Amino acid sequence: MQATGGGRLHLGNLEGALRPWVKLQDSGDYDIFCFIADWHVLTTIGETPTDIYTASRNVAIDYLAAGLDPEKTAIFKQSDVKEHAELHLLLSMITPIGWVERIPTYKEKRELVKDNQLQVSYGLMGYPVLMSADILLYRANAVPVGKDQAAHLEISREIARRFNRIVGEEVFPIPEPLISEVSGELKGLDSRKMSKSYGNAIYISDTEKQTQKAINSAFTTPTKLHITDPGVPEGCSVCSLRRVYDPEHYTTQWEECRGGLRGCGQSKKETAEIVNASLAPIRARRAEIVADISYVDRVLAEGADRARDAASDTMKVVRKALKLAAI
Ligand code: SF4
Repeated sequence: MQATGGGRLHLGNLEGALRPWVKLQDSGDYDIFCFIADWHVLTTIGETPTDIYTASRNVAIDYLAAGLDPEKTAIFKQSDVKEHAELHLLLSMITPIGWVERIPTYKEKRELVKDNQLQVSYGLMGYPVLMSADILLYRANAVPVGKDQAAHLEISREIARRFNRIVGEEVFPIPEPLISEVSGELKGLDSRKMSKSYGNAIYISDTEKQTQKAINSAFTTPTKLHITDPGVPEGCSVCSLRRVYDPEHYTTQWEECRGGLRGCGQSKKETAEIVNASLAPIRARRAEIVADISYVDRVLAEGADRARDAASDTMKVVRKALKLAAI
């Protein structure tokens, strides 16, 4: 995850990524490398540096609070493992510009940067190659992605195939997407997808009161003015939260809404209680972690050591394959 916007992670991040990662970790079936993409933040800063260091730490705090376990998962910052930069450089030599230019997220980012009257940097254009280096550096077999993000992995797969073909050996496995079902389904408070940049998010680090207040202000069905007016749960932000946080009972609530048997006030109150109950253990863990911030720094340092070991093994193979080192 990128350390943008102060680094605080929201419920879309939690349900779409963090909880699925924790499941993968606890399954014991994977060696997991889980990093904080701090260099990627620089691709869109223009001329206004932000405090990426603190933001990265905040991401790490939420990773740990959500249940990522540094004993099982290497948790680290991208900028602490310089091999990411070296592999990015080498992969950039074999990646056709056309591949990068046609990526929809690059086009979106480019327009966003232009809308904000900023120059499109060389680094922004290269971000899909850096992202590919982030994955291929660990010779990853699989990358967890949201349902709407599987296409993002395609360029990394293409670059891996092209590299292997050029050097004539299988240096990189072709990474498969591990698709999480929830991502993209959690609506923000204004019924668009929950996102930091839309300002419509509820954060893991919010208090119970802030969460309650946010849900009270959420978009519901604009034509539902009285309890007896039928609502449209599919378009309602509160319903979206209810579906994710109360999967066994949400259909009853939706039917009552459609039939004009319940009001938005009742839905909001119940949903805030359910969301707060689900987040309580994570928030308690978060408070403990924040009280000992040196623990976070230790986790990041040890994670970087583990990542560096794996990364330097890959780079030895890559340098030899490109005949930069003795074979
Ligand atoms: S009653 Fe509940 S589900 Fe229906 S529109 Fe209102 S908040 Fe949404």
